[in-house]
Amino acid sequence: MPHYDYDLITIGAGSGGVRASRMAAGYGARVAVIEERYLGGTCVNVGCIPKKLLMYASEYGPATEEAAGFGWTIGSARFDWKRLIANKNREILRLNGIYGDLLTAAGATIVEGRATLLDPHTVQVGQRRLTSDYVLIATGSRPLLPKIPGAEHAITSNEAFYLEELPQSVILIGGGYIAAEFAGIFHGLGVRVAQLYRGGLFMRGFDDDLRVKLAEEMRKRGIDLRFNADVRRIDRCGKSLRATLNDGSILEAGLIMYATGRVPNTLGIGLDRARVTLDSADAVVVDRYSQTSQSNIYAVGDCTNRAMLTPVAIAEGQAVAETLFNRNPTAVDYSLIPTAVFSQPSLATVGLSETQARQRLGEIDVYQSHFRPLRHTLSGRDERAFMKLVVERKSDRVAGCHMIGADAGEIIQGFAVALRCGAKKADFDQTIAIHPTAAEEFVTMRNRQHR
Ligand code: NDP
Repeated sequence: MPHYDYDLITIGAGSGGVRASRMAAGYGARVAVIEERYLGGTCVNVGCIPKKLLMYASEYGPATEEAAGFGWTIGSARFDWKRLIANKNREILRLNGIYGDLLTAAGATIVEGRATLLDPHTVQVGQRRLTSDYVLIATGSRPLLPKIPGAEHAITSNEAFYLEELPQSVILIGGGYIAAEFAGIFHGLGVRVAQLYRGGLFMRGFDDDLRVKLAEEMRKRGIDLRFNADVRRIDRCGKSLRATLNDGSILEAGLIMYATGRVPNTLGIGLDRARVTLDSADAVVVDRYSQTSQSNIYAVGDCTNRAMLTPVAIAEGQAVAETLFNRNPTAVDYSLIPTAVFSQPSLATVGLSETQARQRLGEIDVYQSHFRPLRHTLSGRDERAFMKLVVERKSDRVAGCHMIGADAGEIIQGFAVALRCGAKKADFDQTIAIHPTAAEEFVTMRNRQHR
């Protein structure tokens, strides 16, 4: 048997790579993790974590206005972007350290530098050559900027987390997770926001009612949300940027940010030399065990373009460690992935949309509730929450659970367990409500929609 330096070399210390490495080391494997930039990957450094911190920051401004209805008089409020970013950076640094500690405590070796595969078992990092029985590709993804004239003037989410100054106005391009989340963040921090989406209705893939209702709520908050709108070119004009839209109209702003999807980081790391197959979008092709076309090489997370979500990458990393080092072949189940968009108001969902359920299940029943949350009876804010259940008629099984409103992610996380257990509408009905909450609507919906 050939002798290798390691049992597993993981390329990329993001969510998926770290989970696989820690678990593999815990099962006794000799593990090296190679990372060229920052421990924790996109989620910790330029994704989920700093995004949520910025989102919290953006909620305080509107909250101080809403407080008046509850009897508060609050003096003039001021916001300091530089202080927020400095505090956020400090927290990210702390998390980088925790990720390092977790890996070393598990017994894994961290190697700093860019990894390039020389063959299926050999990785070059700087001057060093490391060999391993197995290799895990966990290199993540990066934002995609469309190639239009002047695109170099625009930023992506990577830069948004490190802006020197908060602009007075921003144009966000895209109609998915990141654009919707940053629209809320910038707006809450007092920035004038225009969000442009190229199609007729944003948030493709989510339940249509949610897409429509989120658009309504974001517009009510004052976001200039435009559909069938795209940018043809961008020009710098003194301190501001000028976007020429597809209909010829001009929109100016201090900042233009693209959030038009992400592409796998798979090029220039020797995957071709290791005979690892990529698809037409440069994603690593894997089977259900995350094994690539090269039998000793596995891949997890965004670089495989299955579901670009941190918890999915973690589940994939865990499954690889189980498969390779715990004699327990494990495949991730991609059905019923709960997900939240931290827009304002937030949106969360698990299971099938109404349209998907009609196509896949045939006859379905739909229950929904559209209401003014108790908080907003005094806050003065004209905002409504929306909740919806999609039920398979013949089995009574709840196939989809969807929500827009405060804490949607927190609420849907719990209902995701119920759906995974195969809960029926009758089980929802027999569950006693927690009152007064928004979540109780999910167990008190009795009126079937006639559509
Ligand atoms: P999304 O895939 O969510 O959305 C991309 C948006 O950009 C879509 O509206 C798409 O339109 C549009 N688009 C794509 N290409 C172009 C183009 N050339 N010109 C104009 N518009 C275009 O990507 P994001 O960048 O928002 O986020 C990347 C990924 O990161 C997400 O898929 C998600 O998985 C993950 N993420 C998850 C978060 C969470 O869990 N809360 C938060 C942030 C990101 P169309 O629909 O027409 O294709």
